[in-house]
Amino acid sequence: MRFALLGSGSKGNALVVEQGATRLLVDCGFSAREIEKRLARLALVPADIDALVITHEHDDHWKGVSRFSRAHDLPVWLTPGTHAATLGSELAATELYSPHEPFAIGDLELFPYPVPHDAREPAQLVIGNGAQRLGVLSDIGHVTPHVRAMVDACDALIIESNHDPDMLAGGPYPASLKARVAGRLGHLSNADAAALVADIDTRALQHVVVAHLSESNNRPELARAALAQALACTPDWVHVANQNEGLSWRSLVNR
Ligand SMILES: [Zn+2]
Ligand SMILES: [Zn+2]
Repeated sequence: MRFALLGSGSKGNALVVEQGATRLLVDCGFSAREIEKRLARLALVPADIDALVITHEHDDHWKGVSRFSRAHDLPVWLTPGTHAATLGSELAATELYSPHEPFAIGDLELFPYPVPHDAREPAQLVIGNGAQRLGVLSDIGHVTPHVRAMVDACDALIIESNHDPDMLAGGPYPASLKARVAGRLGHLSNADAAALVADIDTRALQHVVVAHLSESNNRPELARAALAQALACTPDWVHVANQNEGLSWRSLVNR
């Protein structure tokens, strides 16, 4: 199994996960044309993708879904709430998933879980191939015991490290947006991400990626340092998925 991010942040998110001949796009938050350009950086074309799996309807996860799905005849997996929130969008095919029930697409197993975030029915996912599990956790205001249990003992982790609270407080956002981002249904801070990682079993981790970093209210070195301290590793072991470049392929191996 391997994965790569096409980009991550408030201007767009998309993750590619591959196992054997199965390739999923998790979220599609760039224009369809931009998704195609970014797939090309990974030596992929749209025909290589089998399905879209969408975590929630916010535009930075949704922007290209309708056009990309229809242009390439791809099914779109959604929770019923995300479906209800996006009823005006035409999709090539709609597949509903429950955020409480595992499902499979090709060679990949998906273990969704609900997260506290200000969308209709947001979910995040652990994605497995029977041997390894990649935990994906983003767009979540606070960590619940269920979230902690889902991402425990994964082989790789992509974790939101959205903001530094001091930079957010002193930054350019209006007060209402600051309150939303820092709130119980907003986004995880660097310290929130570090506290979660310190609380779970990370012994199997082959890769850890910080994602959804705010360009206004965070700096990559702050997110990295917080997680490195929690993991007792060097900061360069923590990958950063940024808005423009994302992150190139990372492979999971049997150990
Ligand atoms: Zn987002
Ligand atoms: Zn969101």
